[in-house]
Amino acid sequence: MSLHGKTALVTGSTSGIGLGIAKVLAAAGANVLLNGFGDPAAALAEVSSHGGRVAHHPADLGDVAQLEALFAYAKAEFGGVDILVNNAGIQHVAPVEAFPVERWDSIIALNLSAVFHCTRLALPGMRERNWGRIVNIASVHGQVGSVGKVAYVAAKHGVVGLTKVVGLETATTPITCNAICPGWVLTPLVQKQIDDRIASGTDPQQAQHDLLAEKQPSVAFVTPQHLGELVLFLCSEAGSQVRGAAWNIDGGWLAQ
Ligand code: NAD
Repeated sequence: MSLHGKTALVTGSTSGIGLGIAKVLAAAGANVLLNGFGDPAAALAEVSSHGGRVAHHPADLGDVAQLEALFAYAKAEFGGVDILVNNAGIQHVAPVEAFPVERWDSIIALNLSAVFHCTRLALPGMRERNWGRIVNIASVHGQVGSVGKVAYVAAKHGVVGLTKVVGLETATTPITCNAICPGWVLTPLVQKQIDDRIASGTDPQQAQHDLLAEKQPSVAFVTPQHLGELVLFLCSEAGSQVRGAAWNIDGGWLAQ
């Protein structure tokens, strides 16, 4: 399948899942606009080696003005966004009574509100060009809870709800909006949670095994490549009647 001539914006794509998705979309011929913190040189090199046009914008998506500047840049440089992958996300783990208020605010701002803002800014251009794909990287935590993750779980449930509404509001158009709900993927976000177990005395291999075994029946990680291939399917004609879905890819986590 070719995405030649389409432009994909993948938020939070300087690392982890977003980078994996960006590589798959670029390999399918899309122009890719990367976003995220840190030095983007390595991500730019990895994604550029696939062919299409690639750029990076450093907007902090917790800040609406910066987010709007990202979309202005996308319009000026690429003519707009055809494929929006709302991927940027952060985590913090603490019990609800001890959950730092500023962490609640920043998780809701990035993991939920930025999905709303990016969607409202992408949709007018998609309607004008009469084609679009919005893919929200939610989580199994968009469908079930886990202790210590009050802000993350609330935000991801919000993303699944937002996805249904946008899926309905675009239902008669060639624009679709869906959520993907991954289980554990070995990225810096999850490595931090493994490191916490190592810090409390568990052997590194055992810590990784225990994290998986507690929730994910396959006891194997989902990979960024798996997620990229699922995004690619949602961009295809075969995916055109998947609308408002929350698609699990979780090694069986939600089957329990
Ligand atoms: P990661 O930490 O590897 O990457 C996060 C990306 O977001 C980075 O590029 C980072 O620079 C960027 N980012 C962080 N704050 C930002 C901000 N304010 N503005 C713009 N960019 C920002 O994390 P990941 O594991 O690849 O997670 C990506 C998404 O997948 C998140 O939404 C996460 O909730 C979701 N997810 C991850 C897992 C997992 O097991 N890793 C499982 C389910 C869902």
